[in-house]
Amino acid sequence: MKHFIGMLVMALFTSNIAFANDLPPNTAKIAPDVYSYGNPANGYFSMFMVTTDGVIAIESVSSQHAADMVKAIKDLTDKPIRYLLHSHNHWDHASGGKVFRDAGATLIAHEEAYTWMKANTGPDMVVPDESWEGIRKDITLGDTVVELHYLGMNHGLGMTVFLLPKEKIAYIADLVVPNRVMFNIVPDFNIKEWERSLKVIAQMDFDKAVYSHNNNATPLLGGTKQDVKNYMEFIQDLRGAIFAEFKKGTNPMMIPTVVQLPKYKDWAMYKEWLPMNAWRILLDEWMGPFPWRPDNK
Ligand SMILES: [Zn+2]
Repeated sequence: MKHFIGMLVMALFTSNIAFANDLPPNTAKIAPDVYSYGNPANGYFSMFMVTTDGVIAIESVSSQHAADMVKAIKDLTDKPIRYLLHSHNHWDHASGGKVFRDAGATLIAHEEAYTWMKANTGPDMVVPDESWEGIRKDITLGDTVVELHYLGMNHGLGMTVFLLPKEKIAYIADLVVPNRVMFNIVPDFNIKEWERSLKVIAQMDFDKAVYSHNNNATPLLGGTKQDVKNYMEFIQDLRGAIFAEFKKGTNPMMIPTVVQLPKYKDWAMYKEWLPMNAWRILLDEWMGPFPWRPDNK
């Protein structure tokens, strides 16, 4: 009997392992019918939903990423891939669309991203099939609704935040990177509009989010809304630290090299990128009401 129970436990254990392995490589289940796909080696994460009428995918990244993701989708379901949704115009996110088009998907981007992509075709990027305008579009496929939100000129062009209202899951590209300081010199971000957008995102109704870049311990599993709040706080803390140095009398041109934020010392790229992050915030303040500017004295 003892031997039998042992065999039974072993069988259950083995079947659990088999179940976990049923997911294709680099794929994680975020909720029923909602998956994240990402290769920790390239650092880009996408998301896809398997609905009763087909698959909606978000973020093609590159032809290689897209091909591997299409393979993962086809391993999971026989349903057709109906849509590929682009988050914004940057080549490192919007490339690889042709792979999805060849798999039968319609490629969709916000009109601002669409217009730019049409005028600046990349070697691995195709012009989307459709564009949408305004601040909101809903795509319904089978039993799934995806809300597309355009929140303004926060990063790149046509930046779209995706929300699954029923599942309370968001897909957020570039605007939030859990556990990592801002990207290098913070290129193509509009700081003030970015902060305003983050406030709007923090008000949205979701619990989990898949982030295009993620330095959590388990990036494939995404993160939570807390990551959005942490990012808002980081930008505010950095600005606060810059102002504090200014008040202390530190030479403004030295501030980016002396500013420290120990609270974030464990975030990825803290040492390497914090000074560049600080330069960007400082120079944006220079163009605003910052008191060292001669005409503001
Ligand atoms: Zn970008």
